[in-house]
Formats: sequence, structure tokens, C-alpha cells
Amino acid sequence: MIDPVEAHGGRYERQQGDGAFYSRHARIFVCCKARARDGARNDAEARAKEVAMLKGGCLCGKIRYEIKGAPIGTTACHCVDCRRASGAPFVGWMSVARDALRFVAGATRIYVSSVGVERGFCPECGTPLTYRSAAFADEIDIATGTLDEPGNAPPQEHTWTSQQLDWVRLADGLPRYPRSRI
Ligand SMILES: [Zn+2]
Ligand SMILES: [Zn+2]
Repeated sequence: MIDPVEAHGGRYERQQGDGAFYSRHARIFVCCKARARDGARNDAEARAKEVAMLKGGCLCGKIRYEIKGAPIGTTACHCVDCRRASGAPFVGWMSVARDALRFVAGATRIYVSSVGVERGFCPECGTPLTYRSAAFADEIDIATGTLDEPGNAPPQEHTWTSQQLDWVRLADGLPRYPRSRI
């Protein structure tokens, strides 16, 4: 049997305990709704921002989506696969519950980029939109650059910084993980 760690350049994480392999961007962060409840933020304003944040679509507009419920978290992934799939130096992702995402127009085409990993993109304009890992079947990641209000979904950490480009200089003080967070 092929060892998945070896088969994919060691880019998989082995979770202690259950022996499963993971190759995702990040895991469990601060809940946006919980954060909104803390502090003295104006609730109505926060809700309006959240609603605006949780809609998005591709460049050509054929795919539109909505997300119900609070995001699980956000990350900026520097892995080679995200770089190639996007053509960008790194990619911002937001994890949500699988059933929280609904396409209201169009549908993604799926590319299986590695074992158990599905990347969804617009078949018309090529915009990368989603990421799913079989190891986290209940979740799906949305490329935050496709949100209507991406400024409201900043990354909470950087993952796979072991593959970060040398010329990317970041001084945001966020946690950095050489591989995935788990
Ligand atoms: Zn499109
Ligand atoms: Zn990645």
C-alpha cells in the first residue's frame, strides 16, 4: 500500500490518534459570531456586515453562492497546490460547514488535485472557488477573494509557510504554521 505521506511529497499531516491523513489549509479558529457577541460592537452593523460577507461569486458572474451560519475560520495558505490552482502567491480561505454553502446560480466543476481533495472552479471563467478534503467531509473552504466583501474575512493565520515564496514579506503578526495547523 502506498504511504499517502510519501506519495504527496510529505505534504500530508498525520493526526495523532486516529492515523488519518490531512492535507488542508487550517483548522478551527475563532467563531465570527462569537467575536461579534464579545466587545461593544453594534449588533445590527455586525449582522449587516456578516450577511454581506457571506455572499460571493466568480469573475464572470455565472456562479453565485451564499453561506448560512458562522464561518469556522479563515487562513492564508501558501502551499504549492493552492498557488498553482490559483496562479496567486497564496490563497485566502474561509472554512464553513458543508451544508452552509448554497449555490444560487451556476455550479462548480471539480478538479481532484490530490487524493481526497476536490477543488471547485467556474467552468466558464476559471475562478477557483472551493476546496474540500475527504478528511473533513463536513466542511468546505471558500476562496475569500471571491466574497463580495473579502475585506471582512481576513486570514487568522498562515499555513504551509514552509512553501511560502521568498519574496512574500508579511508582517501581520499572525500565527504561522510550516504545514497545516493540526
Ligand atoms: Zn465564472
Ligand atoms: Zn493550500
